[in-house]
Amino acid sequence: MRNPGFSDLIFSLPFPLAVCDKEGRVFFFNQKLEMFLNRSRKYLKGKKLSEIVPEEIERWLEKCVENGLEIHNLEIGDFIFSISPFFRGEEIKGTVVVIDRKRQDIVNEHFDVFLRGISHELRNPLSGMKASARLLFQLREFDEELVEVVVSEINRIERFLDRICDSFDFTRLKWCKYNIHKLLNEVLKIFRSVSEEKRIVIERKFDPSLPEVYMDKDRLFQVFLNIIKNSIEAMEDGRYRKLTVETGYAIQPKGFYYVKISDSGKGMGKEELDNLFTPFFTNGKREGTGLGMYISREIILNHGGKIDVQSDRRKGTTVTVYLPMGVEKSNGKNSCS
Ligand code: ADP
Ligand code: MG
Repeated sequence: MRNPGFSDLIFSLPFPLAVCDKEGRVFFFNQKLEMFLNRSRKYLKGKKLSEIVPEEIERWLEKCVENGLEIHNLEIGDFIFSISPFFRGEEIKGTVVVIDRKRQDIVNEHFDVFLRGISHELRNPLSGMKASARLLFQLREFDEELVEVVVSEINRIERFLDRICDSFDFTRLKWCKYNIHKLLNEVLKIFRSVSEEKRIVIERKFDPSLPEVYMDKDRLFQVFLNIIKNSIEAMEDGRYRKLTVETGYAIQPKGFYYVKISDSGKGMGKEELDNLFTPFFTNGKREGTGLGMYISREIILNHGGKIDVQSDRRKGTTVTVYLPMGVEKSNGKNSCS
């Protein structure tokens, strides 16, 4: 093989990378960085890195240029940086910066919210059990229905605990090749009766030329189930109810396909949108845990993808999931059983 070209090499790196000049201006970067920061090429080019990520980075870039020392695993805000001087011959011309996202430790970072969420979920079934037990005590005789309540509430707690344990490990993905349209149809099947009942029009705009790709199909099933469930819940009160599921090749970022889910629901205000991915943030729906979108995003990020949400109080919400076409997994199966 010939030596790879510099720009091809940078483009292909599996992590976000920026090359800055001595003043800390970004003059070269890869597509992973655009995706990671969710900014366009045009926006990034020539901007000071300190205008894009926390300002504190400036000081470290300067240090690196002055002393020629590498800086590893520097945590600033939600980011982790590794910085090395960019040499041309003997001379330092700037810096090479690799950026990663600090893995959110939601249990510790949001411990209060986490506890409140868990307590909330446990309290409901517990109070049902308590009330039934009280009645049984008063009746002083066996009552089938009351015992059934107790058993079914215990089951609910068990399921909740299973779900909690299950959902918090997103890093171990089971890769196999699968057809995304097959997956989406399986999800939509679950909502068939509810959409018929609520007279929701479902439109599929699938690009049939999308090939099978590597994915963790159970996890992605969970993702699209969460997203579509939210859409359907958001259309409860509407008169015009339409859900569109579209797929296709993404133009930007390159090498990705997208799944776009649009609803004609009630949309989100700024606060809701800002907190969409915050664990346990929910609008107080009866069955809501506020974990759906948080978990979905974690799964998507672990697939090397990203999620974009646009919402309007009048028009509804559009969620776009971008997933890479070309993940090759050495530990993956060629097709999903
Ligand atoms: P949950 O559904 O359990 O409340 P999620 O993380 O799935 O938790 O969603 C968080 C919140 O974001 C929801 O309670 C809702 O307020 C809002 N939301 C999510 N998707 C939509 C949507 N398509 N339309 C309107 N609001 C939405
Ligand atoms: Mg949800």
